[in-house]
Amino acid sequence: MSCYYPARADINLDAIVHNLRTIESALSGQQIMAIVKADAYGHGRSQVARACLNAGVNFFGVAQLGEALTLRNELGAGPNILTWIYAPGAPLVRAIEANIDISVGAFWALEEVEKAARAVGQPARIHLKADTGMARGGFNGSDMAEAARQARKLENNGLARVVGLWSHLARADEPESDFTDVQVKRFEAARSAVSSAGIDVQLHHLAASSGALWHPAARYDMVRPGAALYGISPSPAMGTAAQLNLRGAMQLSATVIVDRTVPAGTGISYGHSAVTDKETRLGVVPLGYEDGIDRMASNTAPLVINGHRTTVTGRVCMDQFVTELPEGAKAGDTAYLFGDAQDGLPTADDWAVATKTIGWEVITRIGARVPRYYHGTGAPRS
Ligand SMILES: *Cc1c(COP(=O)(O)O)cnc(C)c1O
Repeated sequence: MSCYYPARADINLDAIVHNLRTIESALSGQQIMAIVKADAYGHGRSQVARACLNAGVNFFGVAQLGEALTLRNELGAGPNILTWIYAPGAPLVRAIEANIDISVGAFWALEEVEKAARAVGQPARIHLKADTGMARGGFNGSDMAEAARQARKLENNGLARVVGLWSHLARADEPESDFTDVQVKRFEAARSAVSSAGIDVQLHHLAASSGALWHPAARYDMVRPGAALYGISPSPAMGTAAQLNLRGAMQLSATVIVDRTVPAGTGISYGHSAVTDKETRLGVVPLGYEDGIDRMASNTAPLVINGHRTTVTGRVCMDQFVTELPEGAKAGDTAYLFGDAQDGLPTADDWAVATKTIGWEVITRIGARVPRYYHGTGAPRS
């Protein structure tokens, strides 16, 4: 592959396990649900999930039902897997057969779980989802008692087992916001409604990375980190990844394919949004927006070539962009876009600042055509 494709994403599985330990050290014994949705934020779902499984994680979260079914095939029976995105008419039968935990946050979903469980002849494992302040998925607070009553009926009929009650925090990454306290209060109300219906829930879970790190009251029985696992700071305002002892797990690089000298006054790339003010050495890096390099990176995002910082020069194209080459750099040298701060590289969070987005998006949008190479204990041989 590498001889055809001159860019690569190196995935350090040891960094992911290191980040797992960092998160664990902030907790007081809560279980961890490793979030591996979106192909493990672009890092490779099966490889990341296996590394976490070997490191003792026994619960995985993916958004979509299809991802959950694939992950079950990849991990085999044993670890728990929760899915929370499926549409009316989705094959919940397959989820129940594969022993996948199903989030239920709407009355139509309760009905579909009931139908599917009857068809399989086996109870579904469900996590009731309360909306406590995202206005996204989940039952309204005012519907929680009725939802719990119906879920209890499914339990009584052997069609479901309510193993979890959960919700999601909207502002846990904002140092100035006290909205997490409001959500914890609403979650407590949902918890009372469920227990009043006679349901004995084992797993209450509310916190993703930022809640796990910074909101002890939101940790309950289990936390659901994604970003922090991959070395993204859930809030650079609260601390950089390095300050939080999180290591960037993805290093994105490419081989410089062109080196040339152009005179002063040369317009660069589409629209000539950059023009040289003196004779300049330019290089071409073969990564573009098809690979997930945001056009917002044009003229601003950092890279490192031969140990020197430079930036994207001119507009990012579909498959490539131009950069000013540091002294002595030439075609065949490696351009590093982001990686771990310890290696002297810009981080995905730095790219997020440069491109006016969040670290989550920077790593997750790296295109499928960029080959991934795995390193660290348990890395598959390539
Ligand atoms: C993505 C997601 C997570 C993980 O969030 P991070 O901020 O990446 O830690 C947790 N829970 C739910 C419901 C999610 O959708």
